[in-house]
Amino acid sequence: MNQLNNNHSDIIIVGNGITSQFLALKLSKMLGNRIRLIIIDKQKEDNPSSEYVRALSISLSTVNLCKSLGIWELVKSKAHPINKIVISHSISDEKKTSFLNLDNRVNEEVASYVINETALREIIFQETSKLSNINLMHNNISEVKLGSDQISVKVNDQILTSKLLVAGDGRKSIIKKLLNIKSVSWDYNQMALSCLIKHTKNNENIAVENFLPTGPIALLPIGDYHSSVIWSVNKNKIDEVKNISIGDLKLTIEEQFKNYIGEVIAVDNSSFFELNFSIVRKLYSERLVLIGDAAHSIHPLAGQGTNLGLRDIICLSEGVIEAIKYGLDIGTTSYLQDYQKKRMPDILTSALTYDGINRLYSNNIGGLNPLKDFAINLAESIPFLKKSLVKGGSGVNIRY
Ligand SMILES: Cc1cc2nc3c(=O)[nH]c(=O)nc-3n(C[C@H](O)[C@H](O)[C@H](O)COP(=O)(O)OP(=O)(O)OC[C@H]3O[C@@H](n4cnc5c(N)ncnc54)[C@H](O)[C@@H]3O)c2cc1C
Repeated sequence: MNQLNNNHSDIIIVGNGITSQFLALKLSKMLGNRIRLIIIDKQKEDNPSSEYVRALSISLSTVNLCKSLGIWELVKSKAHPINKIVISHSISDEKKTSFLNLDNRVNEEVASYVINETALREIIFQETSKLSNINLMHNNISEVKLGSDQISVKVNDQILTSKLLVAGDGRKSIIKKLLNIKSVSWDYNQMALSCLIKHTKNNENIAVENFLPTGPIALLPIGDYHSSVIWSVNKNKIDEVKNISIGDLKLTIEEQFKNYIGEVIAVDNSSFFELNFSIVRKLYSERLVLIGDAAHSIHPLAGQGTNLGLRDIICLSEGVIEAIKYGLDIGTTSYLQDYQKKRMPDILTSALTYDGINRLYSNNIGGLNPLKDFAINLAESIPFLKKSLVKGGSGVNIRY
């Protein structure tokens, strides 16, 4: 990565999160010095990895992206496969009433892995650090102008220009704010506690999700004796969970997952995340595209947010690579419309499916219990449906 010595580039990417990092790497690997990128992030460090302590489940679409970038063996060495997924529904903290067991493979290939986000970002950072066509800046943006020939971004007193602006600056995107970009959004009235645990029993590479009336709680295997827990709770339970002692947290986790992990020995990296649903009405505007959480923020119950964002960048980079190869303007509307047309179905289907599941299960409406059990039992009884669920989650059937 270089220091900035020219204020014009082909693409300005705002945000240096995982989605943007993958986009920069993909474009650079495919186009080399034929493309110049400026990345602007408000964080002070080049790789703000210390902030990213949670585990990410990465699906086959992400695995295939890593393979195309030549980094899969590196990523795989840090990742833990999920061989089986067990989903259940509880009408109270103790009593589970129905179970769905999924063999997590697509055509004999493992359909998802779990990796520490810090480790994944570090691998991408090491790769992008070697590249001379990327300039990384740490600053706040105060102004953005979209024009018919180019875009300009004001950073301190400097004006940067490019053919295309990519907003990869997360859920609270400054680009969306400055350009008044509208989204369809709602609050989940839930918060997620995420933590890493050490336990006494080998988890046998099983991921578990239990739908409680107060929100889903999930266990992701990140090592034989290490797992990640993501516990989403409705707002009326938030204070209780925020103030929970380590001892009580251990007991809660054991109560849910004792059969799979035995006793909890240690709890680390507890952090809280607000959960909301948000999808921009349009993924593009004149010489602007949105990717990752800036474009769509979804419920984490299926661990798909990053995977969805990385499918955005696979699609976007195909258009950019084609334009640059043929000497065409990468910011023209036809490429951006194409991106919208190809990405919106996947984004809407994923976001609304997880939203629907959360709505159905995260409540105390007793009358819905038969329906909650019916949905799980029905899926459990139809092998074809089980295979389709795993294939759907792997993201391999998405066309770009
Ligand atoms: C509890 C929880 C568990 C999850 N588990 C999974 C999982 O298992 N699998 C999965 O696929 N997804 C998961 N997700 C979703 C995943 O974390 C997100 O989808 C992903 O991090 C989005 O990446 P991003 O790069 O788009 O945005 P971000 O990671 O939010 O990055 C945005 C970047 O933009 C920068 N930025 C922000 N504002 C500005 C500004 N004003 N100027 C410049 N830069 C700015 C930030 O500093 C940051 O570097 C989970 C989410 C939660 C909340």
